[in-house]
Amino acid sequence: KKTITRLPSWLKTPIPNNNNYKKIKNDLRGLNLHTVCEEARCPNISDCWGGSSKSAATATIMLMGDTCTRGCRFCSVKTSKTPPPLDPHEPENTAEALRRWGLGYVVLTSVDRDDLADGGAHHFAETIMKIKQKAPTMLVEALTGDYAGDKEMVKLVATSGLDVYAHNIETVEELTPFVRDRRAKFRQSLEVLKTAKEAKPSLITKTSIMLGLGETEEQIWHALKELRKNDVDVVTFGQYMRPTKRHMPVHSYVTPDQFELWRQRALDLGFLYCASGPLVRSSYKAGEAFIENVLK
Ligand code: SF4
Ligand code: SF4
Repeated sequence: KKTITRLPSWLKTPIPNNNNYKKIKNDLRGLNLHTVCEEARCPNISDCWGGSSKSAATATIMLMGDTCTRGCRFCSVKTSKTPPPLDPHEPENTAEALRRWGLGYVVLTSVDRDDLADGGAHHFAETIMKIKQKAPTMLVEALTGDYAGDKEMVKLVATSGLDVYAHNIETVEELTPFVRDRRAKFRQSLEVLKTAKEAKPSLITKTSIMLGLGETEEQIWHALKELRKNDVDVVTFGQYMRPTKRHMPVHSYVTPDQFELWRQRALDLGFLYCASGPLVRSSYKAGEAFIENVLK
């Protein structure tokens, strides 16, 4: 298989440097919150944390530990069949820390916990409820797993008070078995998004697709149309980046122009908005996008 080692110029990023970003980073000290933004050294941190205002600033928080029961071929999170138990104080502590931090928009995500009977759905929903009690104006997006197809768990999270329900299909249907853990299914993921929307029609539903895994244009079109059939509101596109040599290789680096083309095509298909670019992650500037496209 062809392996590409050189990064194209558009994937090299400047060091974060922006006053709003620095202030938000300072505020975080002492709050004992673990952001994916910092831990994954996300290149977008100054765009997300330092956006146009603090009310639009976005950060991503990981719940339910750092160990996943699944093993997707693109993901660097560590894996175990028996991760440590959940911290029962996490919902309260997370909500309190977020209230004090005072950001505009938080994305809550988690590892998959197939070891728990409810997949962690009650814990997730409780965290959202507590955030909304303590910080009612904070916009909350949950990026969840598929709860192994358990629709009751999806509904529980969807009706816990959140604003955006995200679940990533990650890739086109044809590549799903080669990219995601074998327990993840393209159709099951569509069902998650559909179930969330039906449980609360005013929710914004959202998904993300990585490009550069060997997908064809036709396969991307197909995925987009299936998403629209299931009333998914928002889609994001980003470049797949190989975390280590043990992960699947990058098939190709998609150019910024091609990303822009997919953004236009997604809007033409009726998506409410679409972030698309080589460094875009599903939470990229999610606060600004929500404020500009949903609240206005
Ligand atoms: Fe954080 Fe997501 Fe933005 Fe990266 S893209 S800085 S992980 S909110
Ligand atoms: Fe990574 Fe999520 Fe797959 Fe777990 S389920 S390995 S956290 S992408």
